[in-house]
Amino acid sequence: MIPFSPPHISQAVIDEVVAALKSGWITTGPRTKQFEKDISAYAGCQSTLCLNSATAGLEIMLRWFGVGEGDEVIVPAYTYSATANVVEHCGAKVVFADVKASDFNVNPACIAKLINERTKVIMPVDFAGLPCDYTEINALVVRKDIQAMFHAQGENQEKLGRILVLSDAAHSVGASYLGTKTGSLTDVSVFSFHAVKNLTTAEGGAIALNLPAPFDNEEVYKALCIKTLHGQNKDALAKMQKGNWKYDIIEPGYKCNMTDIMAAIGLVELRRYESEILIRRKEIVFAYDNLFEGCAWAETPEHTTPSKTSSYHLYPLRVKGITEVQRDRILQAIFAQDVSVNVHFIPVPMMSYYKSKGYDIRNYPVTYSNFSREISLPVFEDLSNEQIKAVVHAVKQAVEAELAAAV
Ligand SMILES: *Cc1c(COP(=O)(O)O)cnc(C)c1O
Repeated sequence: MIPFSPPHISQAVIDEVVAALKSGWITTGPRTKQFEKDISAYAGCQSTLCLNSATAGLEIMLRWFGVGEGDEVIVPAYTYSATANVVEHCGAKVVFADVKASDFNVNPACIAKLINERTKVIMPVDFAGLPCDYTEINALVVRKDIQAMFHAQGENQEKLGRILVLSDAAHSVGASYLGTKTGSLTDVSVFSFHAVKNLTTAEGGAIALNLPAPFDNEEVYKALCIKTLHGQNKDALAKMQKGNWKYDIIEPGYKCNMTDIMAAIGLVELRRYESEILIRRKEIVFAYDNLFEGCAWAETPEHTTPSKTSSYHLYPLRVKGITEVQRDRILQAIFAQDVSVNVHFIPVPMMSYYKSKGYDIRNYPVTYSNFSREISLPVFEDLSNEQIKAVVHAVKQAVEAELAAAV
């Protein structure tokens, strides 16, 4: 069976994890702090806070911005449910925006129509690793009429004076837009280091801060450290200093810090991210593109445009003109040939919980069209060229049999 995205665990990763375990410091400590510095240097952002997941990072930023009941947050209908769930956690209303037919990303024109005086945050998702249309999205939040509509509540909303752009960059570490890397493209971006993501720490995530003046991103980082560690004014490392035992709880904080064991994996992986991981992923997606050339039914995904470079997180192939039922049959026929494929994603408005709240996928026709024809192919560092050919062979066989049967 060709797997979908097993992790690549090198001896160097194992050695660094063992070193962390033997160091006497296994929770948040020197390795996490170093990993944060390395991410800031790589992504070009002002400051980075590492956490136990991207989901925690997104929720913490919504809470930091004071998002709650009566507020609205715009989220693409086509994303993983975590993007919407965190808005629900805060008691705010999820407002779904439809995506584009060209590249799966949220459509700025759809966002523009959904903004009203209750809108507090826009959460674009860099689907499959391709950055969103950030020139358009960033321009929206400072458009005079839109900014005039913004009702600031609380310190951070007053300081920003407009809608916050909070990118779900779970897929897009290392991707770039007009020469700038994700992490530096919007006010705040959140990366995921989950086991299936490009850069992994088994579980993990990071908040990349890039807030404009008058925010001091270093100060925001410190406030977030407290917010993500019980609301305690001293972390464990600071309390270790001789005689420095006393602490205070200044807010009812959360608990979602990264451990040094996780950071040990990330430190090694980030060092070879650009030179090995991204290079191999790029080779794989371009090999797929070549092998599907001349297939009239194949709609291959966009990875590069004059302004964008992907991080090649997924290969979301679409089959022209098929229905969801046909797509599902094709998936089974591919699995029958021992190739693991996937669908990214089942749109959030199609999930039971969101349906029960009154959301209806018929309001997001492009999202549904993309989803109903989508098949994600395996992309992982150790996928061999032989396996790539086997995947394409299985896909072609399955699709062509389905299309022939449908005639
Ligand atoms: C993986 C993923 C997340 C969640 O990341 P975690 O680190 O598992 O919390 C959020 N959004 C998208 C689009 C994802 O693919």
